[in-house]
Amino acid sequence: MRFTQPTAARQLNRLRILNILAQHEGLSRADVSRLLGLNKVSTGEIVDALLSEGMVQETGTRSTAAGRRPMSLALQKERKMVLAIDIGTRNTSIALVNLSGEMLRFERFPTAKEPSPEELAASIIQASSKFLSRMKDPKAVSGLAISITGIVEPATGTVLQVSDWKWKSVPLSYALKKHLPFPVLVENNVRSMIMGERWFADIDSDTSYFYVNWGEHIGAAWLSDGKITSQDCQFGHIPIGQSGHCRCGAIGCLETQAAGWALVEPYPEVTSVKQLCSMADNDSAIDGELLHAAESLAQGLIFASALFRPDKIIIGGGISALPERYFTTLLRTFERRAASIIQEKTSIERSTLGERSGILGIAAMGLDEFIFKRSLLDQLKHHQGA
Ligand SMILES: [Zn+2]
Repeated sequence: MRFTQPTAARQLNRLRILNILAQHEGLSRADVSRLLGLNKVSTGEIVDALLSEGMVQETGTRSTAAGRRPMSLALQKERKMVLAIDIGTRNTSIALVNLSGEMLRFERFPTAKEPSPEELAASIIQASSKFLSRMKDPKAVSGLAISITGIVEPATGTVLQVSDWKWKSVPLSYALKKHLPFPVLVENNVRSMIMGERWFADIDSDTSYFYVNWGEHIGAAWLSDGKITSQDCQFGHIPIGQSGHCRCGAIGCLETQAAGWALVEPYPEVTSVKQLCSMADNDSAIDGELLHAAESLAQGLIFASALFRPDKIIIGGGISALPERYFTTLLRTFERRAASIIQEKTSIERSTLGERSGILGIAAMGLDEFIFKRSLLDQLKHHQGA
């Protein structure tokens, strides 16, 4: 095989071509070469290689103004896949996603109560093996990406802390790799939700934003210049209320007013906030609590906006999909209580991924890590630009 350019550069160009084909439909070889500023010979060689690997297919001709009809290219969406697992304190979701991020299979099951690392690893291996056993070609799976509500060291996949489970320094990725036939990635859930937002909702990297995961717990992260700061933001534990025992030991934390665990706590028969919302129509006390939760979150967001001054606040997570009137209450409270200098700068939106933001987030992390390396390409671009 003859290389017309050094191998490393060729590999990067291969990734750039894969990414542009994932992001735009119906491009021809000439389009790809023009959009990426690559010469036609290199583009042609890489596209031919991708065709022979089965990563890309030719999808017939298309008309152009000049009357020439070049073949358009498309990703072979099911050539490679990623397994994604989102481990929440209450539920675990598992999905098989293709190269377009479409979920081909999805299951959800309850997470064990305060599982030991061994128990959790066993349940991950069991769920993954079940998915693989139902596939025609399990080798198409490029890797397993796992998100967890805890502090994670991304480079090693070590879970440094899950406070609900009293976990400290658990080498989860290392333990799982020994039992699974592909690489394993472990990430913090809020970081992966942000990746999902960028991947599927196409957020401008110049926008600074504060991302809130409103679910069983309330997590958050702050993003600026495309970078996520600490994954240890304790947004859920700023004092908002006068009462309410928080799981962290303090009184009146935002979580005690608005987190999933606190909202369902008075109702032993209720298993989710979704169920609570459906009961609220006929129960004014529940309705009142949900309205209060929305107001409390809005107050927390005013503090966050005053300190961080984000362009945008994005609210994702299971509870972000709650009925419109609660979200309207949240917005109205923010407008009523925040100083105009704070309001003018910041807009509040719900994640377009809704209650799937957790599983799609970790799926996006997996697609990035195992296949497209979009974060790496972005970093290189920033380096070149700097
Ligand atoms: Zn707390």
